[in-house]
Amino acid sequence: MKYEKDDSVTLVIEDMGSDGEGIGKIDGFAFFVKDALIGDKVEAKVMKVKKGYAYARLMRIVSPSPNRTEPECPYHKQCGGCQIQALDYSAQLLYKEKKVRNNLMRIGGFSEKLLDSVMEPIVGMEHPYHYRNKAQFPIGTDKNGEIVTGFYAGRTHTIIPNTDCVLGISENRDILEIFINYMKRCNVKPYDETTGTGLVRHVLIRKGFTTGEIMVCAVINGEHLPQEDRLVEALRKIEGMASISININTEKTNVIMGGRCRTIWGSDTISDVIHMRDGEGITFAISPLSFYQVNPIQTERLYGIALDYAGLTGTETVWDLYCGIGTISLFMAKRAKQVYGVEIVEQAILDARRNAVRNGIDNASFYVGKAEEVLPGLYEKEGIYADVICVDPPRKGCDSACLETICKMMPDRIVYVSCDSATLARDLKYLCANGYELRCARAVDLFGHTVHVEVACCLQRKDS
Ligand code: SAH
Repeated sequence: MKYEKDDSVTLVIEDMGSDGEGIGKIDGFAFFVKDALIGDKVEAKVMKVKKGYAYARLMRIVSPSPNRTEPECPYHKQCGGCQIQALDYSAQLLYKEKKVRNNLMRIGGFSEKLLDSVMEPIVGMEHPYHYRNKAQFPIGTDKNGEIVTGFYAGRTHTIIPNTDCVLGISENRDILEIFINYMKRCNVKPYDETTGTGLVRHVLIRKGFTTGEIMVCAVINGEHLPQEDRLVEALRKIEGMASISININTEKTNVIMGGRCRTIWGSDTISDVIHMRDGEGITFAISPLSFYQVNPIQTERLYGIALDYAGLTGTETVWDLYCGIGTISLFMAKRAKQVYGVEIVEQAILDARRNAVRNGIDNASFYVGKAEEVLPGLYEKEGIYADVICVDPPRKGCDSACLETICKMMPDRIVYVSCDSATLARDLKYLCANGYELRCARAVDLFGHTVHVEVACCLQRKDS
């Protein structure tokens, strides 16, 4: 049968795609339906027909999935940040586990049998709400010219006012209210993306969950906030406020942060503590520009698994690529002879060095630069060596020059921590074609209600 736009179809949703969209089939022809969940029977309207599949819009749920639940957030459909909030949490975990497994099979070429033996059960969260320690709120105006903040409606730049995101901390609301009141009183204009005029673009809020310290950073299209003392006066009353800064971003871009920050009150950084499994804590200073995992409770578990996978005994030399502020590096330094970290953001490396000193760790050193340039460069020039290499790249995965050098260095073990199982699968395929075998893999849910999931993997050199 041939389908056309506006046709109405009734479907049983049998699967969910990597962006959380429901997938149902009629005689082998697949329909992708946003907001439809596995187990739903739905009526949908065909929007766009492609070869062999079509996109359809959810019109009515004929009978709901047994895993459908009432989402906590009234905006979850518009926002698009929580793609699967309507799915109960245990079903979310199954979905994520399957997503990782499918990618490892389809993209990585790993057999079902191997995955059955290497994949450990996903580590879920006990409390999958209010887990995020960081949020970046866009500031703009509504139809009536009033200043608003909230979130962008899915794939648009229209701001839906909501400062009470169910994933975020309760302090967000008060901080944003203070900020907007200050803007109104001091006549500070929000940035306008179309004209490139106006001042305030985003407000970044971050909290150290173990220390209670809070950071507020205003991203502005200029060098100064007018009457900034009035803003500081109001914000410092928030319990835990430790750092207030501005970030300068005068580019016409949708990249949120610019390259320069200036502290206007308090400390340049906030600190947080991440515990090792034996209870020992490592303290980290975090700058506005540095990467720091958004879910500190699950992060402890993730790093604990990465440390297990590294199998350290105290004699090893470890390279930690994409090291950020040195989180994994310093965990590993506690159990290794020497750790070297590599990271592209200079400020993060300054934080990493300070973090080492602060924790009395003297067997970790750090390099600024791209992993795919620093590692090959040092290998060619100095013939550097590693027993264990850990990588924790951004979503796009590792650059091929980086993977090539890793294989030339022939470490016994590679620990791969990934936030995108598709690029992970691609990179594992390369590593397994070049001397390594996949020994363990475990997904950890750091991002409840979204389609994202972290995975830690352990690879062993075949002839070692
Ligand atoms: N391991 C750290 C950071 C992981 S996030 C942690 O768990 O906290 C990935 C990091 O890679 C970010 O800090 C980012 O700035 C950095 N990065 C991105 N591209 C890079 C590249 N080509 N080379 C080195 N680091 C890079």
